[in-house]
Amino acid sequence: MAKPIIFCDFDGTVTQSDNIIAIMKKFAPPEWLELKDQILSRKISINEGVGKLFSLLSSDLKDDITKFAIENAKIRPGFKEFVDFARVKSIPLYIVSGGIDFFVQPILAEYAPFDGIYCNESDFSGETIEILWPHKCDSLCDNDCGCCKPSIIRQLNCGEDSFKIVIGDSVTDLEAAKHADFVLARDLLQEKCEEWGINHQGFQTFFDCIDEINKRIEVGELSC
Ligand SMILES: [Mg+2]
Ligand SMILES: [Zn+2]
Repeated sequence: MAKPIIFCDFDGTVTQSDNIIAIMKKFAPPEWLELKDQILSRKISINEGVGKLFSLLSSDLKDDITKFAIENAKIRPGFKEFVDFARVKSIPLYIVSGGIDFFVQPILAEYAPFDGIYCNESDFSGETIEILWPHKCDSLCDNDCGCCKPSIIRQLNCGEDSFKIVIGDSVTDLEAAKHADFVLARDLLQEKCEEWGINHQGFQTFFDCIDEINKRIEVGELSC
């Protein structure tokens, strides 16, 4: 029987909407819109696009941006219950995020501990905000992901009997979804899973995610 292991996105998944988009809407000059379109249409890589987006912002804004991101973030219903569910069932739960440490870490703090939190990092020591990429693509990914979810999945080396569940919503989850045994998807990710014939189910809340995983445990498809 397969052992479930969960890789959960952060922006637009744990939170109801994308924190980077919210930050840009609030603080960035209008050029950010074109960069956003280029990222979403995959004309430029996530790494390049997100780096350029944050370079539009002055490092002096650090405190304002951090405060705004934390206050603005709405957690998707059922997340707390979902984290408890994974803990009770001893299902490893990793947060893999294309978001940035200065808002990902404080927002997740009250739900900790996780088996791991992977996200990008930030440097406010220069004139504008610089994004650091501690989880770049390995030699098997040429997608220039920024925070490379498939590389993280490979690095964790889950084992032959693992059943990899990817939860996500958008462009940063596409490569991870291709490596998943099952995807819980919203929004753009859901459309792409349909288009590419990836084994998936849509969801609205984390209660839906609990139900979908529980179903598979009950029929004996998964053991934990
Ligand atoms: Mg997302
Ligand atoms: Zn990659």
